Amino acid sequence: MICNFINNQSVESHSERQQPVYDPATGEIQNHVKLSAKAEVELAIQVADKAFKTWSTITPLNRSRVLFRFKALLEENRNELAEIISREHGKVFSDALGEITRGLEVVEFACGIPHLQKGEHSLNVGTGVDSHSLMMPLGVVAGISPFNFPVMVPMWMFPIAIATGNTFILKPSEKNPSAPLFLAKLLKQAGLPDGVFNVVQGDKEAVDTLLQDERVQAVSFVGSTPIAEYIYSEGAKYGKRVQALGGAKNHMLVMPDADMNGAVNALMGAAYGAAGERCMAISVAVTVGEETGDALVRLLQDKLATLKVGQGYGQEIENDMGPLITKEHKQKVSGYIQQGVDEGATLVVDGRELPLAKSSDGYFVGGTLFDNVTTEMTIYKEEIFGPVLCVLRADNYQQALKIINDHEYGNGTAIFTADGDAARDFTSKVQVGMVGVNVPIPVPMAFHSFGGWKRSLFGPLHMHGPDGVRFFTRMKAITTRWPESDIKSGSKESTQTQAEFVMPTMK
Ligand code: NAD
Repeated sequence: MICNFINNQSVESHSERQQPVYDPATGEIQNHVKLSAKAEVELAIQVADKAFKTWSTITPLNRSRVLFRFKALLEENRNELAEIISREHGKVFSDALGEITRGLEVVEFACGIPHLQKGEHSLNVGTGVDSHSLMMPLGVVAGISPFNFPVMVPMWMFPIAIATGNTFILKPSEKNPSAPLFLAKLLKQAGLPDGVFNVVQGDKEAVDTLLQDERVQAVSFVGSTPIAEYIYSEGAKYGKRVQALGGAKNHMLVMPDADMNGAVNALMGAAYGAAGERCMAISVAVTVGEETGDALVRLLQDKLATLKVGQGYGQEIENDMGPLITKEHKQKVSGYIQQGVDEGATLVVDGRELPLAKSSDGYFVGGTLFDNVTTEMTIYKEEIFGPVLCVLRADNYQQALKIINDHEYGNGTAIFTADGDAARDFTSKVQVGMVGVNVPIPVPMAFHSFGGWKRSLFGPLHMHGPDGVRFFTRMKAITTRWPESDIKSGSKESTQTQAEFVMPTMK
């Protein structure tokens, strides 16, 4: 039974509700997770609230030293952690290692917190008056994470949250809940005091408790758009600071002058890596001109014949992609493929026909390619979150740009071209939060911030980087005037010689 981690200890849940955790490669149940009841989440909040009183007073340098030790432990244990990710998620071992690296980079960023949390200072904002700002921690903060990055997404949140002096409660996805517990144990080993980082397993009941409890000051969420919208409005209703990252439909614009082999290789990884279960996966290629579209589809079709699909775990495994997360998700993705056919798109490669997809009890769907997709089709409008790539044909650049800008999601996008002017125009005019130029998955590094536009993000602040520090701190502005000192001048005079009833202005 997979448990909670509260106050630096594994805590068995007494909830009456539980659910199986599957091995997506075989369809077998490998464990169960208890879905925490309200009172169990409240215990974690109470513990975190108590821990905040001391953790927030520890010097930033000492907080960052804990993170330095955590970073070293992560590096030592990365293979074991990647195996845990891969067994519950299904992604291939090398991809799981990549996920850990991208999370680790946020830890490295957070190690610099004494610098990042310095605030600002102005001398003489008025005669004899100085002003400075403090970036104060908020208190107890919560993170709610999706199944597709069980380590990286929580690590977009908690290293910065705890480095800035907050205490943290993580509610991981109930589909693959083990990896965050491994992180909790490493944090304890790194010397993190009791109650600073806690994990509660669960579903809506646990999430609602975090959203509604007045001791929780902020909620950082990553998941699908309908739930992100709910978290944002419900969190705001209870007076919380919220950042809620949602779903995506990421387009790659392929111009006629693009390096076609480079674009095809980039598309293969971006569309089919992690079986398309990435919020930055490219699920739409928009080609400009008939020849570009024909060449791209032909090359993709050839490459798809070599895509290696199979079990993800095991360090020796050399597959390109693994199974989907659940049986229901496999059915959903297969349903979308059928809907694409019914709506009139050209199914060039059908992942349902992959022998493994038919013979295995695991949740495999092969790489799927649609051509001649239009903007009215459901497979274009909705997020499929599987290994399905749609090709849309545009006559010219302006038409392609409009297609991308008209989509309701705006997480990531890319342009593949040899033309600097087209790339420059694209980066300034496209209505999307993260943009790549000849880079298919433009996930910003940890010292920049990650976030989409439109219905891919609710809330003003992006994740990690400078926005991450802003999200987990609140500013205090201090204006100081000292009476003239008699030690210095020999006489003491009042600085406020008379009452002033007009709005104060600096002199
Ligand atoms: P999900 O929305 O189903 O679940 C996310 C979290 O919300 C989980 O912890 C889950 O337990 C919780 N949850 C689910 N239903 C809830 C409810 N009714 N009330 C309260 N909480 C609830 O998402 P998922 O399937 O785990 O993850 C895939 C989705 O996440 C995709 O849409 C993907 O695009 C998105 N995602 C976005 C980003 C991003 O950066 N924008 C990153 C990763 C994943």
